[in-house]
Amino acid sequence: MTTVTFADLGIAEPLCRTLADQNYIHPTPIQAQSIPALLEGRDLLGLAQTGTGKTAAFALPILQKLTADRAKAGPKEARAVILAPTRELAMQISKSFETYGKGSRLRQAVVFGGVNQFRQVRAMSGGVDILVATPGRLLDLMNQKHVNLGRTSILVLDEADRMLDMGFFDDIVTVAKQCPKTRQTLLFSATYPEGIAKLSAQFMREPVTVKVEAQHAGAQIEQRWYEVKDTERLDAVSKLLAHFRPASTLAFCNTKAQCRDLVAVLQAQGISSLALFGELEQRERDQVLVRFANRSCSVLVATDVAARGLDITSLAAVINVDVTPDAEVHIHRIGRTGRAGESGLALNLVSMDEMGSVGKIEQLQGRESKWHPVSELVPTGKGPLVPPMVTLHIQGGRKEKIRPGDVLGALTADLGYTREQVGKINVNEWSTYVAVDRNIAEQVASRLNDGRIKGKSVKVRVLED
Ligand code: AMP
Repeated sequence: MTTVTFADLGIAEPLCRTLADQNYIHPTPIQAQSIPALLEGRDLLGLAQTGTGKTAAFALPILQKLTADRAKAGPKEARAVILAPTRELAMQISKSFETYGKGSRLRQAVVFGGVNQFRQVRAMSGGVDILVATPGRLLDLMNQKHVNLGRTSILVLDEADRMLDMGFFDDIVTVAKQCPKTRQTLLFSATYPEGIAKLSAQFMREPVTVKVEAQHAGAQIEQRWYEVKDTERLDAVSKLLAHFRPASTLAFCNTKAQCRDLVAVLQAQGISSLALFGELEQRERDQVLVRFANRSCSVLVATDVAARGLDITSLAAVINVDVTPDAEVHIHRIGRTGRAGESGLALNLVSMDEMGSVGKIEQLQGRESKWHPVSELVPTGKGPLVPPMVTLHIQGGRKEKIRPGDVLGALTADLGYTREQVGKINVNEWSTYVAVDRNIAEQVASRLNDGRIKGKSVKVRVLED
């Protein structure tokens, strides 16, 4: 944090009050460096990761500028467009705009693929001030003439490196070309590969560059290091889990193949684990995230790219199955545990040929690694590590007008289960997921299959690995 205030940066009074309500007292470094330049209308290249406060860094000046110039969006027009790689990130950004823009009367919409476009077309028909979108869907809507960027004055590319990884380079170019030449362009990226330099050269005018190092309260995270041979690595992960028994673990691998292999090893040992990597379909990705967040899966195994934008609080442990060659990525990985004042545990498996990367990490963190022998990892507690809940998949969602309350009602009022036996309920467009106590899962599924939700019979199945 910095010692300046948002008012010092040029943020107007009503917006400052909203921020104070959110307990945003001081701007983060990226906000302090970006906001004045953005209010002046400069283009910006922001090299920063999630967790640095970059969303507010662009959302606040956008809200202020759109409110001040009082222009109105015509039908199908968007005054500001924010492109984001995934639907989760798009929704997160849109939620931030809602929070910061409370009382501003600006209209916004969010569009992404994988769902029917009808509602998105309707939301855009009258025009909006702020449009948050994933590239593929935005292009579809533009091609069908449901969206017109001819008068867009601000374009933001968020997590641009990730969008390039996903193959969106040409789509981004098409979108940028549809906006007026005089627009203001902002590009945020965690890394600076060649594609980003190319985009920046092609679409930005003398951008201000702001670079923020990943940082967090490392002191709250206990880090342990274990030397392993490559052949022992996956087995060592099971040993770590049996020893520390973390309620939820994010395990990072450097490759997709390693993710797959690790999940196979863990599942064979009865440890509930799921893999998250780049090319899962949106539906599969949603399902994996729901099951991990609702405590019916103990270990989420992911690559760095797939885990970006994940917003999961309260992770008991992070395991670095492979050491990353990029020391900043390491800091970002372990920052996912030990959040919000809780203590965190970061466990690192290292082979001889990764020792050089460990040296770089020590240098960046300014402290030496604490090494522990693998032989110390003896199982503790009884039996294998089992998550407390199981996810049930119910066919039918918002389209069938199912709401979380209907599911909770069917389980508690109709079937007589207690509120404590029911966990998180996620209602998507076509399907609903509900976490229930592991001990009653099969019984609940069969009783729901025989019963009704909102007067309609439903198809329910237990999601197991
Ligand atoms: P981001 O990097 O945009 O994903 O933001 C990371 C987190 O920091 C979010 O939960 C924000 O709500 C929070 N945040 C952003 N700016 C501030 C601030 N100035 N003061 C306190 N929290 C903030």
